[in-house]
Amino acid sequence: MGAAKAGLCLLAGGLAGAEPHQGQAAVLVREGRVAALGDEALAKADEVRELKGLWLSPAPLDAHVHLYLGPGPEQAMQAWREAGVAAIRDLGHKPQHATPRDDGGPPLLRTACVGLGATGEAAYWLAAPMSGAQAFAQAAREQARRGASVIKLFASGLLDFEHAGEVCHPQALTNEEVAAAVQEAHAAGLPVSVHANGERAVSQALAQGVDGIEHGYFPGSRCLMSMAQKGVWWTPTLAAVEAHLTAPQGRHDQATLAALTEIVRLQKAQIKLGEELGVNLVLGSDAGSYNLPHGEAVFREMASWLEAGVSPATVFEAATKRAARSMGLAGELGEIAVGARAWLLATEEDPRRDPLQWQRPAWRSF
Ligand SMILES: [Zn+2]
Repeated sequence: MGAAKAGLCLLAGGLAGAEPHQGQAAVLVREGRVAALGDEALAKADEVRELKGLWLSPAPLDAHVHLYLGPGPEQAMQAWREAGVAAIRDLGHKPQHATPRDDGGPPLLRTACVGLGATGEAAYWLAAPMSGAQAFAQAAREQARRGASVIKLFASGLLDFEHAGEVCHPQALTNEEVAAAVQEAHAAGLPVSVHANGERAVSQALAQGVDGIEHGYFPGSRCLMSMAQKGVWWTPTLAAVEAHLTAPQGRHDQATLAALTEIVRLQKAQIKLGEELGVNLVLGSDAGSYNLPHGEAVFREMASWLEAGVSPATVFEAATKRAARSMGLAGELGEIAVGARAWLLATEEDPRRDPLQWQRPAWRSF
């Protein structure tokens, strides 16, 4: 599209994810941002570009990636750029890694900086190990100073790949540790999102007032209802486990593959239930984790949700407006709204009916 200093009006067949407007499916773009919509956009245009019959929508976001997992942060960022993703959130890296910086995008980069985790056996490799409420409070303050946009806690271990429904280290942190991090983060104006698998860790996190649950395998209906009630976001990261099912032969034995299949089945049922209960589902892939490439991961996550029976409209919302809100980017990305960045994709079909259309846009503005 170029810089478009003057007003370039994009005239499409339809708009998805746009704020209410009068008249035609038109978006006026000025200096990279949406300046007007509908008939007003056409009236103020210096130039009109027709996107005949195409649907124009905001580019999707991925709320859960790890830039240090995979080929390295630079290549990962390149993959996200090529995939047409508008923003990503890095949810924790090791203390010895430098925090990747936002270069202005696309994509915009949000980060948790260093993850906060437990010591001992439950220690997580993307977190600094610590113990005691004071240590968690101090570490949360430190990440805020380093420019974190979210504080990430690791409150449980990983899934037990041998036994579907079970979690390694089901409760890694004390209530006091979680509470201390939440208090400091909120005092700094930052949300807290928690790696939590299993009902114990999820319910603990919810009770301590966290803002988001990451992974959240096997939360159970009580936790899902609580999430819905509190408006806590849930990023269920299905693709990360599914990626193990397509691992090269020999990585997992038959018994493990059977357990993995069951884990995926259970999580798909929980996601579907979460949608029915009105949980604030947010799309994030856990890209960079095993066999899950940056960029492509976001589409795999969408495909998994669709296979789970989640409606395409929910997938669309989860990848746009809800992801943007959870990432502190409301009004900036995830919708076609006056003042928002005009990082738009044009697709043959309405992405609210088929979000995988984003994988092969007919045109993109960035
Ligand atoms: Zn992760």
